[in-house]
Amino acid sequence: MSTADLFHKVTEWFSANMETAETELHYDSPFHLLIAVILSAQCTDKRVNMHTPQIFARFPQPADLASASFEEVYELIKSISFPNNKARHLIGMASKLVSDFSGEVPSEIHELETLPGVGRKTANVIASVIYDKPVIAVDTHVFRVSRRIGLSDGGTVEAVERDLTAGFAPQLRGKAHHWLILHGRYVCTARKPKCQECGLSEFCREYILNNVKI
Ligand code: SF4
Repeated sequence: MSTADLFHKVTEWFSANMETAETELHYDSPFHLLIAVILSAQCTDKRVNMHTPQIFARFPQPADLASASFEEVYELIKSISFPNNKARHLIGMASKLVSDFSGEVPSEIHELETLPGVGRKTANVIASVIYDKPVIAVDTHVFRVSRRIGLSDGGTVEAVERDLTAGFAPQLRGKAHHWLILHGRYVCTARKPKCQECGLSEFCREYILNNVKI
């Protein structure tokens, strides 16, 4: 099967079987989504969602977080992974929003990437979810699932992002990001992919190559 055909099949299957695909992080503003995405690095969305109501209530606007102490932020996020780094990043991110962007979350990826704690993946998530930009954020699930299915052979996040960007039509990229994340989270899991109940197995390269066993 050609790569174009594979993208077509994958798009067809997800469109039919996962019509609603959106972030599982809770948020009520672009600023709060940015906080949630930074906190979600190497942490589950579920755990982040348990803590963000208190964080959002305490820091409704960037200026509130920019003037907070490290100790206060740390206390609020201490049961989330890497609280030291994340507390520093959150305060730095909010400070830069205030100083450089009039307290608004920018829409351009190169601007988002100037914020502390915001790498390519986080910038793409914000650009896609908030500003509807035709970009695909590649996290650990998207990276693994894309390579297993055969949508990419890329050995780096950048290479996989390039392949997915080329393969999915612009208007589908935001949705495709969530399709692959959710599939990776619940079906094509890292250690024990549930191939027997996976609707993609018929054309998944990994499944076909390994003759049913992975
Ligand atoms: S068939 Fe297995 S390896 Fe392929 S996408 Fe489905 S769960 Fe993942």
